[in-house]
Amino acid sequence: MSQAQTPPSEDALVAALDATVARASHSPLYAERLAGVRIGRLDDFWRLPRTTRADLQRAGVHGTRAVPLSEVCHYGESSGTSGGGVNATWLTAADVARDAAALRAAHPAVFGPGRVILNRFPFMAAPAHIVQLIAQQGGGVAIPAGNINWDVPFPRALELAQRAGAQVVAGLPLEPIVLAEIARARGIDPARELAVDALFLGGAPLPPAMVRRLARIWDARVVELYGSTETMLLGTSCALGTLHLYPALAHCEVLDAAGGSADEGALLVTTLGVDGSPLVRFEVGDVVRRVGACACGETRPGLLVLGRATEVVELGGRRLWPHDVQDAAAAAADALDSSVFFVVVLADRIVVRVETAGAGGDPLGAWHARLPGVPVEIERVRPMDLLDVELLCRSPHVYKPVVSSDWRGGGRRVVTVSEGMIEWPRPTAAEGRRWFGRVWRAMRRRRALARSLAPWPPGRPDAMGSGA
Ligand SMILES: [Zn+2]
Repeated sequence: MSQAQTPPSEDALVAALDATVARASHSPLYAERLAGVRIGRLDDFWRLPRTTRADLQRAGVHGTRAVPLSEVCHYGESSGTSGGGVNATWLTAADVARDAAALRAAHPAVFGPGRVILNRFPFMAAPAHIVQLIAQQGGGVAIPAGNINWDVPFPRALELAQRAGAQVVAGLPLEPIVLAEIARARGIDPARELAVDALFLGGAPLPPAMVRRLARIWDARVVELYGSTETMLLGTSCALGTLHLYPALAHCEVLDAAGGSADEGALLVTTLGVDGSPLVRFEVGDVVRRVGACACGETRPGLLVLGRATEVVELGGRRLWPHDVQDAAAAAADALDSSVFFVVVLADRIVVRVETAGAGGDPLGAWHARLPGVPVEIERVRPMDLLDVELLCRSPHVYKPVVSSDWRGGGRRVVTVSEGMIEWPRPTAAEGRRWFGRVWRAMRRRRALARSLAPWPPGRPDAMGSGA
């Protein structure tokens, strides 16, 4: 086990917290509030003020930076609180390397010499660079195919995975869903015809029902990655689906509304493995629940991320966590043999729109098994009405910028640099008609749902109220 895998003893934790406080006091954000502070016991630490996202935003772009720019190799930012500001993070090479080493050590079955990794994390997200580093440290062969890049649209990503024999797909949770839909449209079964045996997914909620479905349709093990731009790596899931923390990289506290230590509450993080922009008692914004000992044998503590406190849904006298709503919706979609769903929260119910081609299935049973009594309407929609794979497959062709064009042959006749960089698809008449149909159905549904913000007519087919 590497150092990052072992929960520290209390003495080691106090020493690590003291070192973080000392490092952080070099940043403008903490220069005053941590001046002269030493941590000799945990009590000293618990007295320190929390750090909010608003604090980071007020501190400005260089506010969290605790080392000279000459020691920094990576800048990242996330949107701050309302007002349009940003939270800036500066990382040293050692900061990024620590996360890469910890991930590689924790997941030897995913990352190893010769393992081909399709790295689809967006270029601006830190995991994109951590995955590259994992490969450079001996954890495999990375294909830097970040999505949200013009040069690697989804169809090309699928072709890359096929051609290079990728065993790992790393990216946002939507990635394997889109790739599987495109594969299916091309008559390819991801489980049997692709070499992928591991999905390494983070950056958005990944409910257990979706994990099980992705594992099945890809015949792959799913590893969930949890962290944030500000805190970097916080946890990854084990084979049993428990999100295990990395106590040597970040100290996590769970606090109730009164500020006391709790099993469920707000997550506060103190970075132990970040030199560039260290944070002390940072309010991540997620509500989490501690989970007990995991049967996988891992001794690192486990956490369930319930979601942002601001995204809680109050319905039928209950408070619903985003995690539970997403999980129930994914289960309902799975009951219709679908990965593609969209959740609309109305005043009196939740509408789960699910793409499905067939009849049958018991989506209401799947929903109510997870959220009994929560009023839901399951709406079956045509394939591609929610996720238009046809359009995704017709994403723009991207060329290297050209400054000259030879018109004499049969190639493209370009007259500007901009034209030379990108060529938007020109849909055929049939594609245009299908695309228009999807847009029109979405518009019609939006109008109907807006009308139904008024009370819901009882006894509708394909729907179930709380008392039904
Ligand atoms: Zn476990």
